[in-house]
Amino acid sequence: MQTFTTTAALTAAINEAKQANRTIGLVPTMGALHEGHLSLIRRARQENDLVVVSIFVNPIQFNNKEDLAKYPRTLEADCAAAASAGADIAFAPSVEEMYPEPVTTVYHFGPIEEVMEGPRRPGHFSGVAVVVRRLFDLTQPTRAYFGEKDFQQIAIIRNLLEQIKYPIELVPCPIVRADDGLALSSRNMRLSPEARAVAPNIYATLVQAVEMSEYEDVESVRDWVLDTLSTFHEVNSLPNGLRFEPEYFEIVNDTTLQPINDWNDAPGVVGCIAVWLDGVRLIDVIRFLPEEE
Ligand code: AMP
Repeated sequence: MQTFTTTAALTAAINEAKQANRTIGLVPTMGALHEGHLSLIRRARQENDLVVVSIFVNPIQFNNKEDLAKYPRTLEADCAAAASAGADIAFAPSVEEMYPEPVTTVYHFGPIEEVMEGPRRPGHFSGVAVVVRRLFDLTQPTRAYFGEKDFQQIAIIRNLLEQIKYPIELVPCPIVRADDGLALSSRNMRLSPEARAVAPNIYATLVQAVEMSEYEDVESVRDWVLDTLSTFHEVNSLPNGLRFEPEYFEIVNDTTLQPINDWNDAPGVVGCIAVWLDGVRLIDVIRFLPEEE
């Protein structure tokens, strides 16, 4: 695997691949690679001639300076992991290399950015769109791989592709979880051992919510998830003031991302949650409808 830090070196390699009519798979990441990222790289490896993994902590998608400062950076280990999963190129530019000019572009996405992460992370999705478009321009991928853990982000990228009319196939990939159910995330490494031990209760609560959806209405299920997590520390007397603080839990149409009121409102329904635990913001997604195969 080759590691490039400049756009010039990446562009040369891409031009060569394009001339040889090779298909290109792009896996955009912010590094601190775990099995979730590696599943995307392995899928890209199966489906493309050339696999490019970008490793770039994109400052313009962080609306919280502390989150940006604390974001884990493990480039050497990332390159080894990306290579072992089959990547051909790791592209790890500096901020100056990625953005030689100040970024002035602002993207708008309408209703799909007015829910869930959108209002809580102002500017986040525009910042994501700017970096993803830049990566698309630089790598000209045949396919681009994104994880369903960031469910709303996939809808945003789909909308971006419609706006910019690039013929890139967007490939959504399933969430990879730890054995205890916690969705893998680069932010998990910031959890204390005590917090890591209780964190799987987010997924456990979502799984119970899906069972409950067979006999309870949407609003009851939604309220139950929020109540269960908000009161978890009282019911289970957690140590060191540990507690779950849910920011939102929304049960939404999986295409429009708008909240539903009735289980029959949409053919595809997912629940998306953001929860604070131990100073770390964790997100997860569960499918309600249709049944997973
Ligand atoms: P990030 O480095 O967090 O920006 O993530 C890079 C890509 O990996 C995004 O498309 C994420 O949705 C995806 N990803 C992150 N965590 C997981 C996971 N646990 N399972 C599957 N994909 C993931």
